[in-house]
Amino acid sequence: MAEVLVFVDQVDGVVRKPSLELLAVARRLGEPVALVVGAGAGGAAGVLGGHGAVRVLVSEAAEFAELLVVPKVDALVAAVGVVSPVAVLLPSSGENREVAARLGVRLGSGVLVDAVDVVAGEGGPVVVQSVFAAGFSVRSRVSRGVPVVTVKPNAAAVEEVAAAGAVEELAVVFGGGPAARVVSREARAVSGRPELAEAAVVVSGGRGVGGAEGFGVVEALADALGGAVGASRAAVDAGWYPHASQVGQTGKSVSPQLYVANGISGAIQHRAGMQTSKTIVAVNKDAEAPIFDLVDFGVVGDLFKVLPQLTEEINHRKN
Ligand code: FAD
Repeated sequence: MAEVLVFVDQVDGVVRKPSLELLAVARRLGEPVALVVGAGAGGAAGVLGGHGAVRVLVSEAAEFAELLVVPKVDALVAAVGVVSPVAVLLPSSGENREVAARLGVRLGSGVLVDAVDVVAGEGGPVVVQSVFAAGFSVRSRVSRGVPVVTVKPNAAAVEEVAAAGAVEELAVVFGGGPAARVVSREARAVSGRPELAEAAVVVSGGRGVGGAEGFGVVEALADALGGAVGASRAAVDAGWYPHASQVGQTGKSVSPQLYVANGISGAIQHRAGMQTSKTIVAVNKDAEAPIFDLVDFGVVGDLFKVLPQLTEEINHRKN
């Protein structure tokens, strides 16, 4: 059966959820082969085998910690040489889009980024992208070389499937071009909530929360649902919530199973970052707010009355 190369994001051997989702996507196209690099990469092999990887190519070379982007391209070029895959899949991120672009140049292959779905098709994988502020879906196929595709988080559900997961040390020839060197690292303060771009549930607040302290009801609902907290640009510009939490055209793009917009009007620039969410719920006191045009469920009401009741009910049902 044809093999599909999946580039895995991991930290100290812990595999990020979008990489596990990619193994499920890869299984639709052929047999997944995982490529995992960097410190602790070998520790990820068991999990990858448990999610459908028939082979796990590993390189723990120091170059991956010291340099950005280029060593990963070097590793992918080596892996493509070993596997001859029908497609290369990477989790979408700023760095991985650059890795994909450089890989495409090296292989002479077409590249498609930010896929929301990938399905098998005649003549190669069909890639679905959501464009123009998520107003249109585009289906494309790479017509030259090995398709290189970055896939957004939550494009598929994680599937636990036992596979061989045979570990192979990958020989990588480094030096594929100039690279950015890492000069220092600083751990980000942890909130205990899932990463915004990867979360299955996102609860967001906008200008309607009225201030930084107003985010308390938004955070409480997010915690009851095990979700991440997002914010509109109006809330971020007002200094109520960090920029890293901004959802939209100039913020993060999210595609969770559930998106709850609270006190957010639904401007096109906000929609651009959340419109591909599977189920959208809005709480807004203005029945004419544009956000209600795209919701699956809408509540016309004051978020300070609705959210605490919703949180209480969810917590009650969990206990
Ligand atoms: P508003 O539009 O002011 O809406 C607040 C809503 O809260 C209203 O609908 C109101 O009815 C409701 N409300 C008020 N009080 C309550 C209450 N107690 N209970 C319930 N509802 C209440 N925006 C983004 O979000 N993300 C982006 O990435 C982004 N990028 C942009 C890029 C450009 C180039 C430009 C020009 C704009 C961008 N914007 C972005 C800004 C965008 O146009 C809007 O201004 C912004 O999204 C509005 O935020 P909001 O919905 O929170 O605020």
